[in-house]
Amino acid sequence: MRDKLQVKRIDTDVLIIGGGTAGCYAALTISRNSNLSVWIAEKANIRRSGCLAAGVNAINAYITKGRVPQDYVDYATKDAAGIVRRDLLLTAAERFNEVTADMERLGLVILKDENGDDVTRGNRNIKINGENFKPILARAVTEAERISVLNHVNITDLLVVDNRVYGAVGFSIREETVYEIHAGAVLVATGGAAGLYKPNNPGFSRHKMWYPPFNTGAGYAMGIQAGAEMTTFEMRSLHCAVRIRLHRPEPSRRESVQSR
Ligand SMILES: Cc1cc2nc3c(=O)[nH]c(=O)nc-3n(C[C@H](O)[C@H](O)[C@H](O)COP(=O)(O)OP(=O)(O)OC[C@H]3O[C@@H](n4cnc5c(N)ncnc54)[C@H](O)[C@@H]3O)c2cc1C
Repeated sequence: MRDKLQVKRIDTDVLIIGGGTAGCYAALTISRNSNLSVWIAEKANIRRSGCLAAGVNAINAYITKGRVPQDYVDYATKDAAGIVRRDLLLTAAERFNEVTADMERLGLVILKDENGDDVTRGNRNIKINGENFKPILARAVTEAERISVLNHVNITDLLVVDNRVYGAVGFSIREETVYEIHAGAVLVATGGAAGLYKPNNPGFSRHKMWYPPFNTGAGYAMGIQAGAEMTTFEMRSLHCAVRIRLHRPEPSRRESVQSR
């Protein structure tokens, strides 16, 4: 097997691991604002990979008419019982609408009412025809300058020397090729970690879950193994049905409680 494996080396200014929503948009942003060369390494195909593979029908992080970014920060802080980085939330919230407008320019259909205003769905959401969100983003990436894409390459480890990340390694899932990618900067955008906890039905269909099972938390593992500071991991959002077993007191105990 070892004799068959080809090792290919790539040198680039920026390596982006994971060509999902964040990875593709980061590549696009770098291409527009610098002369840096960018490689995206994606284990599926950027055209339909990650959370947006099948599309979405709303933008759930948006500053709707009459609201301000701080409103979003307050909502998210309350929703997460205060366990948030408000600075990061505000930075993101200040750019939500700008990024959405950019996606609209790239071809995403955002529904409008009779006055030409976005059709809202709740306080922080707008309705879209988003089944082609990912292909639209992937097309923009493909047409942008200085971005190269490695589809079907699963990255496994960051390359570290003297406490500094200088690239990553991975393997093609289609060819017998190992990739050694050296980069000036590495962005990890591999999404969340599906399968981290047991599903409510651990026997049949273990991977019956809302989140894409292919986002396995590889980026978290790579960061932890490389000694990177991991931030905002104190609160996890679990999008699954959870069955809670209530522990009731034994009958004799219950009776004694009731009799009090
Ligand atoms: C079913 C569903 C419905 C949703 N609906 C909405 C909605 O209506 N509105 C809304 O605003 N948001 C919605 N979301 C949330 C939104 O889609 C996500 O928050 C967003 O797309 C996440 O982007 P990301 O780049 O972090 O992750 P992803 O887009 O998932 O990208 C991660 C990428 O990394 C790749 N990858 C993982 N590991 C490796 C590895 N080791 N090597 C190489 N590549 C790797 C994956 O293949 C994937 O392409 C929904 C999410 C889901 C799952």
